[in-house]
Amino acid sequence: MNSVISDLIIHPSVRPQQQRTYIQIQENWSRYSSFFCSLPTGSGKTDIAACLLSNYLLTNSNGKIDILVPYKMHQDFWYSVLQKYGRKHGFSVALLKGRAAYYCPIIKSGANISPCAFDPPYARTCRSRQRCPLLIARRQIRKSQVRILNWWVFKYVDLGEEKATFRIFDEAHNLLNLETLVRVEISFSLLRSLTEDEKSLAVFRNWEKTLLKEKQFAEIDLQEGLDFLHMLKGVLAKKELFIAKQMNTRPDSISLDSLRELKRVTELITAISDLIENPNSADLAFFLQRDRSKGTLKLTVQPFDIAYIFSKLFRGGKNLFMSATIGDGEYLAKLLGMDPKHCLYIKESSAFDKNNHPFVLLKEAKNLSTANSNKKKDTFEFIQKYAQPFMNLLYKNKQRGLILASSFELARLMEGLARANGLVVITHTAGKSDTAVKSFIDAKKGDILITPSAWEGISLDDDLARLCLIPKVPFPMMFDPIVQRKVKKYPNFLENDVLITIQQAHGRIQRNPEDWGMTIFFDGNFRWLKNKRKSSLEPWFLDRITEITVQETLHLFENMLETSNKSHKKRGSSQKRNNFSRMKKTDRDWLQTSGLADLLSKPEE
Ligand code: SF4
Repeated sequence: MNSVISDLIIHPSVRPQQQRTYIQIQENWSRYSSFFCSLPTGSGKTDIAACLLSNYLLTNSNGKIDILVPYKMHQDFWYSVLQKYGRKHGFSVALLKGRAAYYCPIIKSGANISPCAFDPPYARTCRSRQRCPLLIARRQIRKSQVRILNWWVFKYVDLGEEKATFRIFDEAHNLLNLETLVRVEISFSLLRSLTEDEKSLAVFRNWEKTLLKEKQFAEIDLQEGLDFLHMLKGVLAKKELFIAKQMNTRPDSISLDSLRELKRVTELITAISDLIENPNSADLAFFLQRDRSKGTLKLTVQPFDIAYIFSKLFRGGKNLFMSATIGDGEYLAKLLGMDPKHCLYIKESSAFDKNNHPFVLLKEAKNLSTANSNKKKDTFEFIQKYAQPFMNLLYKNKQRGLILASSFELARLMEGLARANGLVVITHTAGKSDTAVKSFIDAKKGDILITPSAWEGISLDDDLARLCLIPKVPFPMMFDPIVQRKVKKYPNFLENDVLITIQQAHGRIQRNPEDWGMTIFFDGNFRWLKNKRKSSLEPWFLDRITEITVQETLHLFENMLETSNKSHKKRGSSQKRNNFSRMKKTDRDWLQTSGLADLLSKPEE
């Protein structure tokens, strides 16, 4: 243990809470099966976990450890940190990144149904073995004690290798919505293209006619839904057999299309089996949904038993759950089917100065609602009125900002307001947030990023954004029957989920000890939310909440800016860049192609 803890002690940026958390877990290792750690940005959670796993491998030489993270960028970060620890403590690390590492390129489907999963010697003769990333991944896994996995694709994998005895979940608050991993959506068009089975199609049509009628959603009776899934599984199994027989009898005639079809059939069979083999299938909900804009009809089958799903995917061993926003740890433990008494909960405060990152709830804020057209009109007028001074503030001070909207409609409203105030806006349509975020962060384009999607997972360090505006509490769409059902099963889900989203949002603009910026919240619903679910709020966040007027907020921001300007002599360079970003696009393009743009962004002598 001493050799490992020394990694923390010699670390140049060692912080007291790193040592505290590490020692607390280490001392309680044998008493608890799982550890829930709320560790804010900058608390060095990766180093804490790296020390713990190094120590674990010292005492469990045959141990296998999985690091489960939701995003690829987290995988890269973990890999770079763990390689250093691995070199020092003699363990190897495998990085399984992207779908390719989990997919068989022959059938283009999960590793668990690849031909070599059923017949291992097949891998030696497989025509794709030379370029099979799955085989490479398996080799890596076999010789590595630590595997860094992307948990959104983990569900497809039965890697056929040893199961982990210790799992580390980074960004563990995402487990609150683990059930979405096993949601199955069957569209009418998919069904028609895969089966052409008149009986199944007739069931679909009948539901549309008798239940859905003119509505957007209709719930299907549980038994009817289960009968349909059993019938469909039978039809698909016959289809699978038929394609397989064709392939066996005429292997030279195998086309890419038939392989793709086989892939879709087997994937659907696997997904349906997962649902109906669940002993708690009484927990399933079936919804028929019509999307008028796309002209589509689909059946969504959603299990709600998160504990069952978790135990199926991640059985046994020790678990370490880490996030800046674990929220109510006992609630999460219960949700995952654990006995809260067998878990240890650790909450750390932030190492950053709280005065540099206030979370301002405007004193003028009233409870906003968009439940009907009148309320929506009032809400939008209120937001426009109170957001106006902050748009002006950004423009006047040449600062950049972020607006996290609760819907695309609200995003459009904010976009209009920002443009009217002379700000260059970066925004996006549904499913296109990556491009907008890259453009705002990497290319440093625009003055303000307006998005309904990036409430977490982006880092707006320093000058990238100083203001984060949240016009409205991001309640989920309450008319969605899946949300309604989840709220019914987990009464605390709604408030807990919303508060975690808000805390994550505040974390977007506090990324390092020198960083500063403020979040401004316009919706008075936050008052009752925070009082109702105090246990979902992290100590580092509670520290930062303040309720002041619009005028006081404007003064506070200008004071913070002045303090920052005094301590940053190179301020001129960023102003030049902002001036450049405010030019007309044609002028900017001309400057860029002529090479003069670089001159404009050089700091003043
Ligand atoms: S060796 Fe690779 S490509 Fe071949 S069947 Fe197995 S997973 Fe698929």
